[in-house]
Amino acid sequence: EAFAGDDSGTLTPRQTPGVLYSKARPTPVEKVTLLAWSDELADELGIARPSEQQEIDILGGNHVTDTMYPYAACYAGHQFGNWAGQLGDGRAITLGEWEAPDGKTWELQLKGAGLTPYSRRADGRAVLRSSVREYLMSEAMHYLGVPTTRALSLVSTGEPVLRDMFYNGNAAYEPGAIVMRVALSFLRFGNFEMLNARKEVDNLRQLIDWTISRYYPHIIGENKVINWYKEVVDRTAKLMVEWMRVGFVHGVMNTDNMSILGLTIDYGPYSFMDNYDPNFTPNTTDLPGRRYAFGKQPSIGYWNLGALAGALLPLADKDQLVATLETFKDVYWTEYYAMMGRKLGLDQVTQLDRDLISQFEKTLAELQPDMTIFYQLLIDLPLSVEDEDAVADFFKQALYDDLTSEQKTALYTLISNYLERLNTNKIRRADSQDMMRKANPRFVLRNYLLHQAIEGLEKGDDALFVKLQEAIKKPYSNKFDEFFQTRPEWASQKAGCSMLSCSS
Ligand code: AMP
Ligand code: MG
Ligand code: MG
Repeated sequence: EAFAGDDSGTLTPRQTPGVLYSKARPTPVEKVTLLAWSDELADELGIARPSEQQEIDILGGNHVTDTMYPYAACYAGHQFGNWAGQLGDGRAITLGEWEAPDGKTWELQLKGAGLTPYSRRADGRAVLRSSVREYLMSEAMHYLGVPTTRALSLVSTGEPVLRDMFYNGNAAYEPGAIVMRVALSFLRFGNFEMLNARKEVDNLRQLIDWTISRYYPHIIGENKVINWYKEVVDRTAKLMVEWMRVGFVHGVMNTDNMSILGLTIDYGPYSFMDNYDPNFTPNTTDLPGRRYAFGKQPSIGYWNLGALAGALLPLADKDQLVATLETFKDVYWTEYYAMMGRKLGLDQVTQLDRDLISQFEKTLAELQPDMTIFYQLLIDLPLSVEDEDAVADFFKQALYDDLTSEQKTALYTLISNYLERLNTNKIRRADSQDMMRKANPRFVLRNYLLHQAIEGLEKGDDALFVKLQEAIKKPYSNKFDEFFQTRPEWASQKAGCSMLSCSS
């Protein structure tokens, strides 16, 4: 494409005005060893599992074929609400595009492949810990049915990487690794913000036209920019609903981490919620503000869309942009209540049902049961309950703390109201339960499981890692019920364990 690109191939970190990307070859590593490969994704892409070392070397950046065009993207972003200027792919190098048998064209990208012009003061590398987290969680989200970037492979590099360990702040060497990530596009809100900030209106227009023709080809004619922005608003709102459904906390929703296709992107300090706490953030650098806490994600999605609207001002009418941004709320709430209706097995969601849903949110936030286990138990709730103690007992497996008598009453009231509502369902109980089974995951990739799998791998024991690779593929089944339990006490935030920082 005739985009403004920087073809110098120079990797020195620098500002790159006037360009959308810079050519950047991966820096070779000591030894590329294959640790994981996603057969299902490979099938979809029409790529055979690598067997020769030269093929494996591609996955670690040690072999670049002459059909590839490696580059790093230039973007900017708002980090924690502040304009941060040029960021760019500091350690992600796109090798090129791959056309799958179904005709779709995918971007293949190595994360951790060495310095790029956007590495700023960092090293362009990734550690095993963060690479395992990205590999497993992006695939887990895919199998949960949440829009996401994917991961095809994970390799170790045979090279140590120096990092500040998140739990003690001391610098330490960790094993290096590289993930090959895959998406139709890795374009972020920040790619567009960058061009507006630099007043490169012609580049901005080109990038928007290209994005539309490539990923939103049905949008044609007058008002293209607004119509396209509207679809980004819709996709982002729906993505937020999906995160709320499964209890996913992204942890670092900076605008450079917001996909223009509405995908979950940037698996850094994310976590699933264990105990239901809308204020939960897994990100150490998000304290004390908790900007990216679980319950704030939808409003941050909206805020980020506002930043994207700002970037489109040179090419669209301001009032129309604002009006389109405002449709976020309607889309979000409509989708949100429909989603909650499925989680609760309701045949429809009326205004009264919205009140019941609010009561669920409020009571869960007060009692903080394990979100995943609570909704699983709810599927098999008996259709009549005796008293407060019986209800508390029924949900016992989901509880982290003993309930106070007020909490017991609140739970009993909620469940009684819910049962009354279920009575009015015009669908069969079995169909309602089926709906709930499809909306409520039974297996989620909890932070402590990742932690244990990584510890194992670092000691040369891949048993848990291998098992989790299978478990993530069946999140709605009971096939991996050995993981159907609350987070152990040692892994609680109180015990100082489940916090992570952004960079690794
Ligand atoms: P993130 O918080 O992961 O979205 O990263 C923010 C910015 O830092 C992006 O521009 C990344 O490419 C860059 N970055 C993060 N880690 C590294 C690293 N180890 N080397 C180079 N750049 C990095
Ligand atoms: Mg990022
Ligand atoms: Mg990141």
